[in-house]
Amino acid sequence: MVDSHNSLTFIQAFEDTEKELKNNLPPWEKATFSEKLCIFVIKFIIFLPVIVVLLIISSAYTIYLAFYIIPLLTDNSNRPEVYFWHTDSEKTLAAIRAIIFIIFLTWNVFWLLISLYKASNTDPGNIPRTPDWEILLEDSSESSTEKVTIEKRKDGSQRTCNHCQLRKPDRCHHCKQCDRCVLKMDHHCNWIANCVGNNNYKYFFLVVFYGAVSLILFVSTFWESVVVCLCDDSNSEAFVLFIVTVYILVLLLSIILVAFMFFHIWLMWNNFSTIEFCEKKRAKSSNFDKSPYSQGVYNNFKESLGNNPLMWFFPFFYEKSKDSGLFFNTKKY
Ligand SMILES: [Zn+2]
Ligand SMILES: [Zn+2]
Repeated sequence: MVDSHNSLTFIQAFEDTEKELKNNLPPWEKATFSEKLCIFVIKFIIFLPVIVVLLIISSAYTIYLAFYIIPLLTDNSNRPEVYFWHTDSEKTLAAIRAIIFIIFLTWNVFWLLISLYKASNTDPGNIPRTPDWEILLEDSSESSTEKVTIEKRKDGSQRTCNHCQLRKPDRCHHCKQCDRCVLKMDHHCNWIANCVGNNNYKYFFLVVFYGAVSLILFVSTFWESVVVCLCDDSNSEAFVLFIVTVYILVLLLSIILVAFMFFHIWLMWNNFSTIEFCEKKRAKSSNFDKSPYSQGVYNNFKESLGNNPLMWFFPFFYEKSKDSGLFFNTKKY
């Protein structure tokens, strides 16, 4: 408990220092050499988790190719006792399996990388700096935003952000790490070095989806290589340990990612954001199936993944209207 408190304090202190440094640094074009170095280090630290994700993807893909696909395609008749395929027809089946699996894995990894790029590089959504959203000194109860917002402070007043000096639309939250308000904010994700919000949620979900499917394929097939590796006496202990460790790590990662994928499917099904889910949990509300924004399951998925269901699993076709993320329909269906 003390440890987790200390690490939280450390993370908070690191974030504060990082924010302070960022605020004090000039834009890249006007920066001196030492300031440019500082900007580079900050950017590197922010993108470090993304680099870790890319390293995990490339390592897992290479290991799968080298220690599962290639042995399936190779004629291993010199050591038949450790392999599952012996006859010609079994060898042909093994080769067909290998080709199908590697095409399927490559397809998933390809869309995973595109989704990761788009999730990381798409602006999650800003509050426009227009009079409707700016905090005015005089009473602004006539503002159009008053008529559509349903989220209020406890005292019944309009939600505003003191950092950005703007009125907050429904479902909008200020992200401490990005130091800005984000429309329909889901959460800040260090693994994509970006906030997940109104305009990039689909890309984030597809990262999780393609990651989970790739890991399921890895775990459900690579066990054959683990068994072969354990049965083959000619393998060194270090190699056996390496293959077994890789399999256990991928297995653990797949359990986490598959659970995370189903959690996000549940959130989309019920039209909750992660923040809204956590707020309900904190308030100890048992009303988890009722979001005021829910428009029915099909419309909820359309809101999160786009209007065309045939394109739900591709990181494109996610056009958002101009006021998307500012106003939400609360009419019940
Ligand atoms: Zn803000
Ligand atoms: Zn953020």
